[in-house]
Amino acid sequence: MKKLIVGNWKMNGSAALLHDMIMGLVDFNVKNVDVVICPPYPYITMAAAMMCADKISVGAQDCSIHESGAYTGEVSVEMLRDCGAKYVIVGHSERRQYHNETNEMVKQKAMLVFASGMTPIICVGETQSEKESGQTLSVIEKQVRESVFVAPGVVVAYEPIWAIGTGLVATVDDVKTVHAHIATVLGSMGLSDTKILYGGSVKGSNASEILETENVQGVLVGGASLRIDDFVPIIDAVK
Ligand code: PEP
Repeated sequence: MKKLIVGNWKMNGSAALLHDMIMGLVDFNVKNVDVVICPPYPYITMAAAMMCADKISVGAQDCSIHESGAYTGEVSVEMLRDCGAKYVIVGHSERRQYHNETNEMVKQKAMLVFASGMTPIICVGETQSEKESGQTLSVIEKQVRESVFVAPGVVVAYEPIWAIGTGLVATVDDVKTVHAHIATVLGSMGLSDTKILYGGSVKGSNASEILETENVQGVLVGGASLRIDDFVPIIDAVK
């Protein structure tokens, strides 16, 4: 299965960064891997126009749960598709935490993304205290069962919350165990071919061991997707 590398810029970046990133990636020989950049909403159209579509795709970091109407400040899936987005991240832990998004809301968003012809990247992950109290697998299983919209081609990202932006990375054994469990749960939902990404402080220095771990079909990268010199080694780590 082709690996998938997704860069989530969060609320960072600028037109200048986008330009530098795309120029850097165009020169780089991206092969055997799908690369997606998810800049903030205002840069999606610009990114899609600049991307070399067969090499790099553009994604969004979220979408509205509504299709259209009087929802000031919201952005619909149709608008994202219209602007050239091919992927949409849904249920990122920062959305769950700061915007009270529930599994049901995440699933509804994933359904809208899929229905509009884009690929949802559905995030799940446990907190530090859930990990410490031995609840990781049960928390993740509940999130997967309740947040994943069952449809071909959806992507799931396992992002332990305690590893996001902290420099802490799950051990290879932990990644192996959790990804195997997610794969089993997805299999029981009829989604055996689903790509499962790992996210949480991925860098050039740890990308290859993570990408070579069983049941890891790619990575979701935050901080290290903001500099071409940090992002390229991660793409390069795909064998
Ligand atoms: C993320 O925000 O999805 C993420 C994984 O961030 P970081 O790589 O910075 O930990």
